[in-house]
Amino acid sequence: MNLNLEQAFDEPVDLSHDLELSRESLARPELTGLQPISFRGRLQRSDPGFVLTGQMSFSGLVECARCLTDVPFTRTADVSWTFAPSHRQRELEGEELEERELLEGDIDITWYDDLQVPFDPLIEEQVQLEIPMKPLCRPDCKGLCPSCGADRNTTTCSCVKPSDERWDALKTLTR
Ligand SMILES: [Zn+2]
Ligand SMILES: [Zn+2]
Repeated sequence: MNLNLEQAFDEPVDLSHDLELSRESLARPELTGLQPISFRGRLQRSDPGFVLTGQMSFSGLVECARCLTDVPFTRTADVSWTFAPSHRQRELEGEELEERELLEGDIDITWYDDLQVPFDPLIEEQVQLEIPMKPLCRPDCKGLCPSCGADRNTTTCSCVKPSDERWDALKTLTR
């Protein structure tokens, strides 16, 4: 979807946008399921462009980083974007440099040529940030046995660590 900035030229407009993202385009192998992303927000004029603020929410499934079980998650995040006309870019970035000490952080500006901005890539970028990193099915997940692959949360396998015996042999030799 293109965001038509012109619609907020005279007064703020409320926007909603639901979007289905493919797991392939997100390139996150641990993501095993993803529900449509929903965005609700308000677009308004600011100087010199526009500001869009709102809330994004979605849910999905990610693999436990230790045992690979699917773990459901839900995320709700406040998001905001600043849009400014690209013909002002040089001038505004110059100002920003001078006032850098006054700014609390770099303001991320999306520059536009006409009043249409591709919206889906902006949402996709935020979704990437909100997908849980190294999720666990539970804090004390025991993970999979590295030798036989058994889920150590549900079974006990008889694998022994082969390195232990070799260390013992080495100790006897050096004595
Ligand atoms: Zn787990
Ligand atoms: Zn095992």
